[in-house]
Amino acid sequence: MPEDDLKRKLADFSVRESKIRGQGVFAKKAFRKGEILLEIDDSDPVLDRGKLTPEQEIFIDVFVTADGKQKITWMKSPERFINHSCDPNTYVLTDMRNGVRRVRALKNIRRGDELTWDYTLNIWEEWVGPVSCNCGAENCRGIIQGNYFTLPREIQRRYLPLLDEPFKKRFTEKIQSLNLTAESGTA
Ligand SMILES: [Zn+2]
Repeated sequence: MPEDDLKRKLADFSVRESKIRGQGVFAKKAFRKGEILLEIDDSDPVLDRGKLTPEQEIFIDVFVTADGKQKITWMKSPERFINHSCDPNTYVLTDMRNGVRRVRALKNIRRGDELTWDYTLNIWEEWVGPVSCNCGAENCRGIIQGNYFTLPREIQRRYLPLLDEPFKKRFTEKIQSLNLTAESGTA
């Protein structure tokens, strides 16, 4: 299927109680690794971030756009309910031609699996936490905090191939200064 034909197929997902935290997003069909699950709805900008309460901060997204600007939006359902995991099964990629951000499968996802992403990926400011992590992954860091640049080196290296293009462009020097040599075959 051409990627441009893909819209927000909300019927492919359900939002319900999660073992990780609060409500989570669950796949109602299987997805193969690399497949696009969902287009992110970035249509609702946050106009005055300074006035947000900590409870509201949880539902905003801060990111770099395809044209290199910082943007803050209210996250829409279902993506606003995607929980963090230290061993996530999705990540986000921006289409540099039209700026559309899409959630992509990082591994094969079975019907009924909860969708997760790593809250620190493509993040450069301090995350709203810290909060304890209940993701249940073998490699759980125990706490969600910081950003890509404060992650342990080994995780920075593992996430290097997953970084979104606008983030990489905006923080090229900072990423290079981490001096992470992407080992071939480990992505
Ligand atoms: Zn965790």
